[in-house]
Amino acid sequence: MATIEEYTGGTIQKGIQKALMYFDTISSPVPDDEKSRHIRQKIDAFEPFLLTPDQAMGYIRSARSIAIGERVCRALNPGSLFTESVFLDDLAIEMVRAGKARNAGVEEARIYLEKSSKHPLIISKVSGKHQEICPSVPSECVYWRAEKKGIHCLKRKA
Ligand code: SF4
Repeated sequence: MATIEEYTGGTIQKGIQKALMYFDTISSPVPDDEKSRHIRQKIDAFEPFLLTPDQAMGYIRSARSIAIGERVCRALNPGSLFTESVFLDDLAIEMVRAGKARNAGVEEARIYLEKSSKHPLIISKVSGKHQEICPSVPSECVYWRAEKKGIHCLKRKA
């Protein structure tokens, strides 16, 4: 799992980039070697879940703070589709403080997610808590790229 500091400091991108580069170079299915197991562990630590819009709104409504900012992996593909994530609680506060997100209300977040409805919603754990909801872009997403290689990391939230 990554920490809030890795998000605000930008080092989260290094981890994503390493995993994406690895997926680019290996066969499918992923070999059962130490490197693959390490990447798998790193991905699983985020405990990513696919959410329905209603489930996402449940998280948003119960958050103490909400912020919206560029999805963290877009920095690796600057010319790519612009999408933003919804950050919650302490991650929201710190991303705003770092100038990487802006404060938002429940309604703004709802409207934003509605506009992003063609992107599958994924929630990830950061610093021990599910605090990042991303309308994911499968071609650039570490989770979807892992799935494509046979690493099944995305579960639907019950
Ligand atoms: S698209 Fe995937 S890797 Fe990129 S920020 Fe969203 S959830 Fe993370």
